Amino acid sequence: MSNNLPKYEKDIKICNFCTLLFAEVSCKMSEITILVWFRNDLRIHDNEILLEAIRKADKVLPVYCFDPFYFTKTTTGEPKTGNFRARFLLESVADLRKNLRAHGAELIIRTGHPAEILPLLAEEYHVNEVYHHREVAHEETDISEQVEAALWKIKLNLKHFIGHTLYHKEDLPFPIKDIPDSFATFKKKIERDSNVRPCIDTPGEISTPVITDAGELPTLQQLGLDEPVDDPRATIRFIGGETEALKQLQQYFINIDKADQQKVVKQGPASIASKLSPWVALGCISLRHIYWEVMKHEGNVNNNNPLILELLWRDYFRFMFKKHGQKFIAQSNDEEQPELAANQDELFEKWKNGDTGIPLVDAIMHELNATGYINNYSRQIVAVYLVANLKADWMKGAKYFEEKLIDYSPASNWGNWAFIAGINSDPRDSRYFNLVKQPTEAEMKGDFIDTWLPELKNVDEKYLHITSL
Ligand SMILES: Cc1cc2nc3c(=O)[nH]c(=O)nc-3n(C[C@H](O)[C@H](O)[C@H](O)COP(=O)(O)OP(=O)(O)OC[C@H]3O[C@@H](n4cnc5c(N)ncnc54)[C@H](O)[C@@H]3O)c2cc1C
Repeated sequence: MSNNLPKYEKDIKICNFCTLLFAEVSCKMSEITILVWFRNDLRIHDNEILLEAIRKADKVLPVYCFDPFYFTKTTTGEPKTGNFRARFLLESVADLRKNLRAHGAELIIRTGHPAEILPLLAEEYHVNEVYHHREVAHEETDISEQVEAALWKIKLNLKHFIGHTLYHKEDLPFPIKDIPDSFATFKKKIERDSNVRPCIDTPGEISTPVITDAGELPTLQQLGLDEPVDDPRATIRFIGGETEALKQLQQYFINIDKADQQKVVKQGPASIASKLSPWVALGCISLRHIYWEVMKHEGNVNNNNPLILELLWRDYFRFMFKKHGQKFIAQSNDEEQPELAANQDELFEKWKNGDTGIPLVDAIMHELNATGYINNYSRQIVAVYLVANLKADWMKGAKYFEEKLIDYSPASNWGNWAFIAGINSDPRDSRYFNLVKQPTEAEMKGDFIDTWLPELKNVDEKYLHITSL
């Protein structure tokens, strides 16, 4: 106990009465401090771990760790996190720090393994408990298990919260082990028997301990990456952080209203991609916030809103990982092994460089490589092409997307790829193959190909069609 005394010295006011002095010291020493470990929940609004820590503790210690694990090279020598996503992450953490400061708090930033850093900080700041949001994919859960074990050694508890899905796990109309494997059944039951919870209050003032070394954001170079070059052809420059995420949601409503006015959509709600995924992946915006804003916009009617439907797909993949773990993306023994092309390595190289000779596929891959983002439709086209036409291993495609995508999210990426590869999926859910048969989207017209493959500008549009796949 005596070791701790110097830390409180500056709080002890010179006082003539020893009793008062000791009362103040012991009061400080019984203060509760909770460390809030930010991971993929880089926001202040609707953030249960932050609000709960504020409610339970006298002091809250917000921490973000840049874990070197995510900046290693993969087995193919490529960076695990590409530079567009890394820049977006840096911007998001900077914005979180700015927003926490506006609430009177400070964000501690460190570069290193959370299992080493968090126990050190916990000891330095006399932390009583550590809070985080539970993840589902194995790399993320491995990290939290290591943190849990390291904290346990210093007799501290890592408390897990659920906060990454639209529907809360506790509100599902079935236990995790009985979640329907068919998306259609999952959707039907959840919409009938479950409700989305209201958002959690945004905190007011947040009290952090006196922090001597808050730490600086690393640079891209320090993370082993080059500065990305912004391509003027990109449809959007994604800027990380909660502030931009909330703006993007409002922009989405403006776009929807414009589309409705122009009668672009004749039946049902307008279907326009929100381009929210990078912010959703890092938790810069909460799904419940999106849901309730959509409800407000739609006059409180969930008329099969396309944005909410897509968020349900996201929930579905996360819950499937929760239910099956890695088995969700593993070929089961009774499934027929896919036949792979003998020269699949060579074909894969062509695919990833946008050099297959199929204009649409190549244009999409050029867009991905130049910007880190392609829309859902484009992802389906190139994934189906890799798996069904080139007969290459789908896992290579998924790993490539992991490196390149600015919105990479393990359950969504690996779940969608496994789905397209036909792993463990219900054929009734195979919307991908149907979609690919309908070459009606704007992206499939010649001007998209002109943009990303300008060398084909003068080639007649009929030769650029999807049917040439
Ligand atoms: C092969 C493949 C890989 C993918 N990898 C990822 C990934 O790593 N990260 C990722 O966020 N999405 C992934 N998706 C899903 C989807 O393509 C993107 O979420 C979507 O294109 C993002 O654009 P948006 O925000 O405009 O989506 P919107 O259509 O506006 O949808 C709103 C939100 O719903 C979620 N969403 C939409 N479609 C899906 C879907 N099929 N599965 C899961 N969530 C969905 C996203 O969070 C998205 O921001 C992948 C899809 C495919 C086919």
